[in-house]
Amino acid sequence: MNVHDSEKVIGTLLHEGYRQVGTVEEADLILYNTCSIRDKAEQKVFYRLADYKKLQAQGKTFGVLGCVAQQEGEKIFDRAPHVSLVCGSASYRKLPEMLAQLEAGQVEKKKIEAARSETGERETAKLVRITGLDDRQTDECFETEFTARTNPYRGYITIIEGCDKFCSYCVVPYTRGKERSRTAESVLAEARQMADLGYSEIQLLGQNVNSYKDPAGKKSFAELLAAVGEVPAIRRVRFTTSHPRDFGRDIVEAIDTVPTLCDHVHLPVQSGSTRVLDAMQRLYSREQYLERIAWIKAAKRDISITSDMIVGFPGETEADFEETLSLLDEVGYDSVFTFKYSPRPNTPSLSLEDAIPDAEKARRLEMIMGRQREIQIDRYKKYVGATVEVMVEGVNAGRGQWIGRTSQNKTLNFVAGGGAAESTATSKPRSKATDKSALSGGAEGSVRPTQATSTETDQSVCPAQLVVGSYCSVRVTASFPNSLVGEMI
Ligand code: SAM
Ligand code: SF4
Repeated sequence: MNVHDSEKVIGTLLHEGYRQVGTVEEADLILYNTCSIRDKAEQKVFYRLADYKKLQAQGKTFGVLGCVAQQEGEKIFDRAPHVSLVCGSASYRKLPEMLAQLEAGQVEKKKIEAARSETGERETAKLVRITGLDDRQTDECFETEFTARTNPYRGYITIIEGCDKFCSYCVVPYTRGKERSRTAESVLAEARQMADLGYSEIQLLGQNVNSYKDPAGKKSFAELLAAVGEVPAIRRVRFTTSHPRDFGRDIVEAIDTVPTLCDHVHLPVQSGSTRVLDAMQRLYSREQYLERIAWIKAAKRDISITSDMIVGFPGETEADFEETLSLLDEVGYDSVFTFKYSPRPNTPSLSLEDAIPDAEKARRLEMIMGRQREIQIDRYKKYVGATVEVMVEGVNAGRGQWIGRTSQNKTLNFVAGGGAAESTATSKPRSKATDKSALSGGAEGSVRPTQATSTETDQSVCPAQLVVGSYCSVRVTASFPNSLVGEMI
């Protein structure tokens, strides 16, 4: 979500006349988007800010955006006095206005200092400070038509912001504001705009994407998902993250009915123990979670299931942890993101007793990762011999392989009949690419868009035409725990 927030902020500021530069050294204004989901991420922010301090003498202006900005607020000015702006994600729509205020304040500061120097005073005027900390007040989403997407083939659309679930360990409800959805109409307009620009894959985003509620009352989440999948020229639709409590059968039915919806559901469980789930305030039991898994497994399509898990939540006993391990076996996930519990400010679990020592958290993390690796080895092996469609995402020149992604969100590295892939591969031509030519970053791999029609994305291609952003069929010939290998057919 942070990546897409940055794309929206960058696009909005480019539209306001700002220019994006490639390095910190070239910039006059440095905006740093931050994450505070775990303590480590937050610590990194302050190290980086301390690092920036040496650039202050060059007259640069610093702003902190995102969750650390919202969580720490004006305290950031104490810890990093060279920072002039802090702005949480719920205030991004006001950012151009805040930057204009900042600039005006800085002009004023320079005038004061010039007047002082004429009278022989050396004292510098106070640094201008601007804050945007809407917290849980705002009902508005940050909608912009100027999103600066960095990948020209697959892009994100945020459909719901914030969170009202208040899991006992999580900072998100405090840093990203209350849950608020965009209208289905505006989401569909953005999807159509993306299709016109040549995008063929869309990923719908939300902290809990499936808690979506159309403010106009026209579409449920599953209906919106299906409608995005039916936008002409859109070939793949993904969605993340789904909260188990709001996960309905209608989502599985939509996946079964609409071919463009990808065969993948990310359904974070956090723990396999109902006792821990209660302490986490997750609002479901192990059995209810498994019921949703059963719906997904009963689908006509082979839907890949992935999850997030936290180990070492306060009071998690060995027996609780065993339940998490057994859940891995019972579900048979295709991938799991595992985290050591990290105590976060303002959250209810901060006051819970029975903290688990870090070494024990590390042991549990290792055990989960080891067990999951074995499960993945078995699961990935099953695809050997199968033929699957991939979207070409790039080239691994060292290995002479193309990098593809399957509908199930698996990486599939492959060779094409025409010979080994080379890093000089040109990208698929596409329409209106000049809309993005001002941006740094560009497509994944080593390619940049040129120009042409979006209808070309509707065809699979032969080796000579193989380009990033195109689709082709690949036969799987080997498997690893985290990826597949194959040959284009
Ligand atoms: N809304 C999603 C859900 O409820 O499943 C998750 C969004 S959260 C930004 C991403 C993941 O970060 C969570 O699924 C959880 O595993 C992890 N996480 C959140 N707070 C954490 C904490 N205090 N310590 C460790 N992991 C945490
Ligand atoms: Fe955090 Fe829970 Fe909200 Fe997910 S549902 S963002 S884990 S509070």
